[in-house]
Amino acid sequence: MRLIDAHIHLSEMEYTGHVDELITDAINAGVLALITNSTNLKSCQNDIALAKKYPGLVYPALGIHPWNVNNLSENEVEDTIAFILEHKNSVKAIGEIGLDNKYETIWEKQTSVFDKMLHLAEQIDTPVIIHSRGTTDKIVEMLPSYRVKKVLLHWFSYPMTTLAKAIDNGYYITEGPPVTYSNGIREVVDKVPLTHLLTETDGPVIYWKPPYNGQLTKPSYIRNVVASIAEIKKSPMDEVAEQIVHNFEDFFNIKLPP
Ligand SMILES: [Zn+2]
Repeated sequence: MRLIDAHIHLSEMEYTGHVDELITDAINAGVLALITNSTNLKSCQNDIALAKKYPGLVYPALGIHPWNVNNLSENEVEDTIAFILEHKNSVKAIGEIGLDNKYETIWEKQTSVFDKMLHLAEQIDTPVIIHSRGTTDKIVEMLPSYRVKKVLLHWFSYPMTTLAKAIDNGYYITEGPPVTYSNGIREVVDKVPLTHLLTETDGPVIYWKPPYNGQLTKPSYIRNVVASIAEIKKSPMDEVAEQIVHNFEDFFNIKLPP
């Protein structure tokens, strides 16, 4: 069965020293591609190095995460943009970028960085991978004013009215391990057309509930995610997996091995 992880953070600290092991786990589980999402300049540089080390398996999404905007060095936004432009031929998306309403004290900085990241995606004509905790309605409202062609809303959880709008706009949704235990996420998966759904682990985020039980998040979790989606969609698991692979190829413009 062919599987994909459209959203992981291989350069985060929790994965230091574990990447080879994660790659082996991915290969053994049939995960054919991982999009490693950056969160600051350092992880952009490391993600490019990982994509070179594991060609045809690890692909980079580069950008500045909203949680990081307060910890940036003086010229980090400009330096990150310059770095991304320099590597634009390898970059598969601008991500993980967005807005988070839990960090309202840095709201102005978040919006300024997010705006710059969206303009960068326009400039190099790449998809965007969006973090939108508590801000999905706002983001879905503002995106049409940018010339961004492909949008992936990562870990979409609410509100359902915005989900309908996002689907209408042709946006893609990624869901991960919570689909096996969260009723809210299962409802989202039920509503999103299978042609616009992708799978993710969002590792190193840890999932405390069964069957994950707080272990280090691995790409092989994708198998459980697909099994749960198949159950919700009342479709055979291999057909669901194959459709998700096609969605991945269309969204990122990457051809995966048969
Ligand atoms: Zn993430």
